[in-house]
Amino acid sequence: MSTTNQTRRPLVAGNWKLHKTIGESVALVREIKTALAAESRCEVVVAPVFTALAAVRDEIKGSVIKLSAQNVFWESRGAFTGEVSALLLRDVGCDYVIVGHSERRQLFGETDASVNKKVKAVLASSISVIVCVGESLEERKAGKTLQIVSSQVRSALDGLALDHLPNVVIAYEPVWAIGTGVNAEPEEVQQAHETIRGLVAKQFNDSLAKSTRILYGGSVKPENADLLMGQPDVDGALVGGASLTADSFIGIVKAAG
Ligand code: PEP
Repeated sequence: MSTTNQTRRPLVAGNWKLHKTIGESVALVREIKTALAAESRCEVVVAPVFTALAAVRDEIKGSVIKLSAQNVFWESRGAFTGEVSALLLRDVGCDYVIVGHSERRQLFGETDASVNKKVKAVLASSISVIVCVGESLEERKAGKTLQIVSSQVRSALDGLALDHLPNVVIAYEPVWAIGTGVNAEPEEVQQAHETIRGLVAKQFNDSLAKSTRILYGGSVKPENADLLMGQPDVDGALVGGASLTADSFIGIVKAAG
């Protein structure tokens, strides 16, 4: 299913990963805020480390920037030392949570099943989710990209209610493109996004598929952002490295429209 992204509001999210102190996070978001127009067609989201969420929330108050966490646990309370629930993320002011990032899957043992539980917990707490999917280099070399991505999407969205879909954003992030400086070719990205949209149509319906935003992530920079986000089914970007400085992040936001 191919569509045109003119009808969907673009979204650019900066995933700051394990970078920046509270002071550095506030300074960065202040720079971004100052550079952004008061009215932006593009929705702008930043995802600092947990310890900087409250300070960044205070800094973005009244601006167009929204707050995201980078991870969540699916239970809302209990004996789960070290975990943070969706309820607590809502309490601190998060609008979004990133779930299933490939670093979580690769380094912290997250599975399709745990990603699905997290997606459900986030949506049940009235926060939006940015759920990440993407194939590894081996899977790509074996020609399994669309198969892997499809199975991750199916599983992540399994059992969701129709009225939850407007709060779901899907990020296609080929693992081999993350943090490597090598982005996927725009045509490959479009093909993956079209496949994902078709799956949403099948699992839910055409109208939800047409309104679901699908982001690309993997070495997005101001220099390649235009071409990548110019694809009809690409509705924005999830940005790692290039979100750590205001200039490059703003360059990507501007390319998104
Ligand atoms: C990411 O971490 O989600 C990401 C896309 O990183 P980078 O932009 O650095 O490739």
